[in-house]
Amino acid sequence: MALFNKIIATALPILPRWFVRPFANPYVAGETFEEAKYHIRALNEKGFKTTIDILGEHVESKEEARKITQAYCDLYASIEAEKLDCNVSIKPTHIGLSISLAETMANVHLIANAAKNTDNFLRLDMENSPYTDATFELLDHCKSIHAQTGIVLQAYLHRSMDDVHRLSASDFNVRICKGIYQESEQIAYQSETEISEHFFSLVQAVIKKSGYCAIATHDLTLVSKIESWVAENNIPKDQFEFQVLYGVPMEGRLESLAKKGYTVRIYVPFGSAWFDYSVRRLKENPKIISYVLKNFFKGK
Ligand SMILES: Cc1cc2nc3c(=O)[nH]c(=O)nc-3n(C[C@H](O)[C@H](O)[C@H](O)COP(=O)(O)OP(=O)(O)OC[C@H]3O[C@@H](n4cnc5c(N)ncnc54)[C@H](O)[C@@H]3O)c2cc1C
Repeated sequence: MALFNKIIATALPILPRWFVRPFANPYVAGETFEEAKYHIRALNEKGFKTTIDILGEHVESKEEARKITQAYCDLYASIEAEKLDCNVSIKPTHIGLSISLAETMANVHLIANAAKNTDNFLRLDMENSPYTDATFELLDHCKSIHAQTGIVLQAYLHRSMDDVHRLSASDFNVRICKGIYQESEQIAYQSETEISEHFFSLVQAVIKKSGYCAIATHDLTLVSKIESWVAENNIPKDQFEFQVLYGVPMEGRLESLAKKGYTVRIYVPFGSAWFDYSVRRLKENPKIISYVLKNFFKGK
């Protein structure tokens, strides 16, 4: 089965969209906000907070970057109008960072103001290492407009602990994740053990330095380790939250975390760029292919 899953995952990019759609469905909350809002409301009703993201990255023109920027500004207004428990995550290259920093600065300025006007939170996702420093520059600018702004640190990067120390000079809010891109061994840990250990140390460092920590992982062993540490050290429950990607199976752990009074937030992507996103997700975890197929045939 593992080989079958791998073959399908490798072939996905060349398969027709109608074929890929059933595999994508568990990971993507629709193509429009109108569709996504039902998933978000259902998650909110189950006691989960959410963060929404418009799928896409590396736009190629300034016009496209401005269109996406406007869509993010509108999203804040829609979240407020629909009274959803939902904040916003954006990928800097989706609003122009692979075109120019100045252009992105102007765009993020508008989005930070939209977040401020609706008293909501803005998270800058972290992309691959050529964009790390520029993403910190964008964060500084956003924070000068609106305090409720945060960033992401990747546990595979050697530099991330220094970034915690630097960020802790003022109030800070970070999401810690393992990191999803391919990075060289000059700048990034390669082994799963080292990445997980660094993840745990980063979470401890953020919390000890009084930052707000979003713990973004589906690694149940790591979740258990962090849960034990926060309980043993009486860390206040309003200083951190657990985060997962929409659709990733968690064996009931999210419900049990929420039941214990921990904040759990689900990252909900939507948009017309669902094809590329889903192919990336399925290549990361080909096991999902047999899971989706099983459910598909069960339902028939
Ligand atoms: C809320 C959230 C936001 C993120 N934001 C960023 C970001 O800004 N920048 C960045 O570089 N990375 C981001 N990531 C991705 C992250 O860096 C990891 O690549 C990803 O979460 C897999 O690592 P893991 O900690 O879940 O552990 P792993 O050990 O990789 O996974 C644990 C288990 O979960 C399953 N699993 C993990 N990921 C998936 C998936 N996508 N689909 C299906 N099953 C899966 C695996 O089967 C595995 O058994 C984010 C992740 C989350 C949860």
